[in-house]
Amino acid sequence: MLGNIRHAILDRDGVINEESPEGYILSPEEWIWIPGAKEALSMLAQAGIAISVATNQSCVGRGLIDEQGLYRINEKMKNQAAEQGVFFAGIYFCPHLPEYGCRCRKPAPGLLEKAIRQTGFERCETVFIGDAARDLLAAKTAGIASFLVRTGKGADTEADLQKGIVKEIDTKSVHVFDDLLSACRAITATKEKLAK
Ligand SMILES: [Mg+2]
Ligand SMILES: [Zn+2]
Repeated sequence: MLGNIRHAILDRDGVINEESPEGYILSPEEWIWIPGAKEALSMLAQAGIAISVATNQSCVGRGLIDEQGLYRINEKMKNQAAEQGVFFAGIYFCPHLPEYGCRCRKPAPGLLEKAIRQTGFERCETVFIGDAARDLLAAKTAGIASFLVRTGKGADTEADLQKGIVKEIDTKSVHVFDDLLSACRAITATKEKLAK
C-alpha cells in the first residue's frame, strides 16, 4: 500500500489542529493541536520524512482575516513544532474564494503540485493526508497517494464515501486512519520494513 515515503503533505484544519465550530480559525488562540498530532509530526521528522502543509483558507478571501493574521496562526504551529525539532519544508495555502476558480483551492491540485515542485520530491515518494473529500480529489488529480483521517470532517467524509456520494473516488482504494498519529505510525513502520 505504501512505497518509500519521503514527503508527507498534510492538510491543516481537521488533521493537525481541531476544526473551528464556526468554520474558520481566525486567531492563534483558536488553533489547538489534535491529540497526538505533535507526536505524529515528530515521528515523521525522526524517520527523515519531509513535512509540508497544504490548506484552503478562504477566510482570507472572505475578508475575515488578512494574510498577516494567517501567518501569525501558522507561526504558532511552526514554533510549537520547532520546540520538538520539527521543521516544515513548506506551508502552502489558498486564500481564494471558491467562486474565484483558482488552480490552488483543493480539490484543484495546485497546492500539492507546488509542494512537490518546491521540495523536489517525486510524486511516488509523496503522500497527502487529509480529512475531506476535496483532499482526496486533489491528491488524485496531482497523482499522489492519499490517506483519510477520521478527525475533523473525516468521519463524515468516510460515511459519504461508503454511501458512494463522492463519485470520482474509488472507496475501496482509500486508506482510512483514526488520526494523524495512526497514519504516521503506518508510514514510518513501512519505511522501517523497507530499510531492512
Ligand atoms: Mg481539513
Ligand atoms: Zn487559490
